[in-house]
Amino acid sequence: MRIIKPVCLACGVLIGALAPAIAQEACPPGPNALGVSRVAEIDTSSGPRFGFQYKEQDVLADGEVVLTFDDGPLRPYSRPVLEALAAHCTKATFFVVGRMAVADPEMVREYARLGHTIGIHTWSHANLHSITPLKARTEIELGFSAVQQALGKPVAPFFRFPYLADTKSMTTHLQERHVAIFSIDLDSKDFRTRDPGTVHRRVMGDLARAKKGIILFHDIQPSTARALPSLLADLKAKGYRIVHLQPKAEATTMPEFDVVAQRELDRRRATVAAQPLAQRSMTWPISTGVSAEPAVAKEQVRPTPRASARNPKTDWFSNAFKW
Ligand SMILES: [Zn+2]
Repeated sequence: MRIIKPVCLACGVLIGALAPAIAQEACPPGPNALGVSRVAEIDTSSGPRFGFQYKEQDVLADGEVVLTFDDGPLRPYSRPVLEALAAHCTKATFFVVGRMAVADPEMVREYARLGHTIGIHTWSHANLHSITPLKARTEIELGFSAVQQALGKPVAPFFRFPYLADTKSMTTHLQERHVAIFSIDLDSKDFRTRDPGTVHRRVMGDLARAKKGIILFHDIQPSTARALPSLLADLKAKGYRIVHLQPKAEATTMPEFDVVAQRELDRRRATVAAQPLAQRSMTWPISTGVSAEPAVAKEQVRPTPRASARNPKTDWFSNAFKW
């Protein structure tokens, strides 16, 4: 058994126990808030692909920006990200990792309550290039089932490959499942620094050159959590406009993976009931049962060698989830 998210146990309990719901009453936005310029409704029936890897679809005009956040939820950082977005009455898309959703389903519901779009980023953030197509399919489908059940309603049929490592077979699978694939246009590289100023300067510099784009952040990264208030203010000051992606139709799930996801959520609920003071804690064991159904590879829950080498004791989780 391996423990994930060994990050700031005390923070998780404290923030979860004491923090009130994030307010929305400031919306509609005032003159200094970004707001949402427009909603782009995405028809996913043909499995469209967006971002620099594909250049097949582009829904953005110059000056338009889509905010995306991967790898969460991770409460100590997801929460300030949500607060910063709420302060600007603006909306983003969160590409959620299934097992993170099981660990903190309340936070997934908070994404939705605040009006954000929820897509999927696999079950365990595996690199789908390095596993068999059968296991990769499990990563995708269990991700959809887990996040949907954590949320309590269907998610968007939006998917982003971990590490942007797409594969031909999984691209075909996603298109057959009528799921849109989102790569990125601009990378905050927030995983490389703990300095919010570095994230801020990189995003604004890249945006000045590209003029528009889908921006990648991670709501498990402290640099993004701290950078976002000033970054959003700067986007507003420089006249950028936020586009909110929404799906034309909801995602569907497969019953065999719903069963596994429900089992994981039930197991989490039992753990919470047995240890009420730890109900918002930031640790969650990887179930051996998931590995057996149908054979999610053990290597999928390991940090990458590079991440392990960087910070083996305290920070592998956030460093492992680079994309
Ligand atoms: Zn990722």
